[in-house]
Amino acid sequence: MPDEPLPLFDPAESDEPVTVPTGILTCAECTILIGPGYLETEPFAHPARSGAVCWRCFESLERRAQRGETIPPQRVWDPRQRR
Ligand SMILES: [Zn+2]
Repeated sequence: MPDEPLPLFDPAESDEPVTVPTGILTCAECTILIGPGYLETEPFAHPARSGAVCWRCFESLERRAQRGETIPPQRVWDPRQRR
């Protein structure tokens, strides 16, 4: 029977740098707040690493991940493009 006291917390567990109220997340890519009342209300799981991303970043990451396979439904307006 081991008599060593267990540590109060696991130091191997990653400490989160995010210091926002519970339920509010920050985008791992563009660091905007995600939650009710913010620009982005729905967090998406980061496809490449841990954390949450906003819809825009998720879309962009997905697009980059499968580039060449799918064509984006909309083209982003390019300000350099002339009529
Ligand atoms: Zn983002």
